[in-house]
Amino acid sequence: MAEKRDYYEVLGVEKGANKKDIKKAYRKLAMKYHPDVSEDPEASDKFKELSEAYGVLSDEEKRGTYDQYGHAGMNGFSQEDIFNNINFEDIFRGFGGFDVNNIFDMFGFGGGNRRHGPQKGADVYYDLEITLEDAFNGLETDIQVPHTKTCPVCEGSRAEPGTSTTTCQTCGGSGQIRQVNNTFLGQMVNIRPCHECHGEGTIVEHPCSNCHGRGIIKQSSSIHIKVPPGVETGSRLRVSGEGEVGAHNGPAGDLYVMMHVKNHKIFQRDGANIYHEKPISFVQASLGDSVEVPTLEKPIELKIPAGTQSETTFRLKGQGMPHLRWNGKGNLYVKVKVVTPRKLSNKQKELLQQFADISGEEIHNADKGFFDKVKDAINH
Ligand SMILES: [Zn+2]
Ligand SMILES: [Zn+2]
Repeated sequence: MAEKRDYYEVLGVEKGANKKDIKKAYRKLAMKYHPDVSEDPEASDKFKELSEAYGVLSDEEKRGTYDQYGHAGMNGFSQEDIFNNINFEDIFRGFGGFDVNNIFDMFGFGGGNRRHGPQKGADVYYDLEITLEDAFNGLETDIQVPHTKTCPVCEGSRAEPGTSTTTCQTCGGSGQIRQVNNTFLGQMVNIRPCHECHGEGTIVEHPCSNCHGRGIIKQSSSIHIKVPPGVETGSRLRVSGEGEVGAHNGPAGDLYVMMHVKNHKIFQRDGANIYHEKPISFVQASLGDSVEVPTLEKPIELKIPAGTQSETTFRLKGQGMPHLRWNGKGNLYVKVKVVTPRKLSNKQKELLQQFADISGEEIHNADKGFFDKVKDAINH
């Protein structure tokens, strides 16, 4: 911009104009040159110029300095400081569609960090341990979730009901202190939250006694959840809006219930399939049998054919875990383990010896010690 125009001239008001007239003049021109509505190719520059003029003239301290020293006196104020003075919500009240954050973006201040910008609350994670049976059947339960909520007494205003808040004088309501330091590298700008109002922009004279002026309270809420059948360790359940409270009327974060399925005593799981080991005798394995095997619902019958080898796996279709995202179930795999008897009666030994003889098998009792042999001799 060339030579800076006089602020009164920009707004088209007299030097001695009162606050009301200045606001009225600014409002009229701001509507005309707002870049969202104006066809003027220079609307953005004009709007900025107008806003700067109004930002100075609407603030007593800045106006006083300007009246005395002109533009030279404005060097002590940052542009952001000047624009932060303007209550755009108030100026554009009744003219919906103007996004205040867009205005700040246009000025290059990044509206997202402004105190007025609603921010979504943080997500909360909750670990839930369930049994394999719960994962099979699905589960409805209540969990106690610690999170922050808007204070129900002051409804987040931080002030005792019936009392009011005032704009922070230290930061002019922006919630930020902007410090410009001249260094040999140039101007270094440091923005930090206002210490007076803790970045809120407003001063609460009578803090709400329920939340001690924080506007939020920590509490544990009982939340009813429905765990669908088929969840696994690592599955997560999202409960919308049950996370931490959002800042400046932003939406609350979400709650994520993280599933941990406990190991099972007799079943191993891999996705929708489950695995089970079934001990059977060598007689069952040799002759074939019908045995009962457990499932997550009720025991069912498994037919073992004659001559089954140890470690043979049988597939029981549809007896596994439910699929989480589609109908149907995985399989149950039963691996049979042929168990060798550890203790045999004399009669059993005799029959096995006979069995070996018939089979043409010569058994050398390698483990038999000297005394056993003697005992055998006596028995005969
Ligand atoms: Zn409160
Ligand atoms: Zn402040």
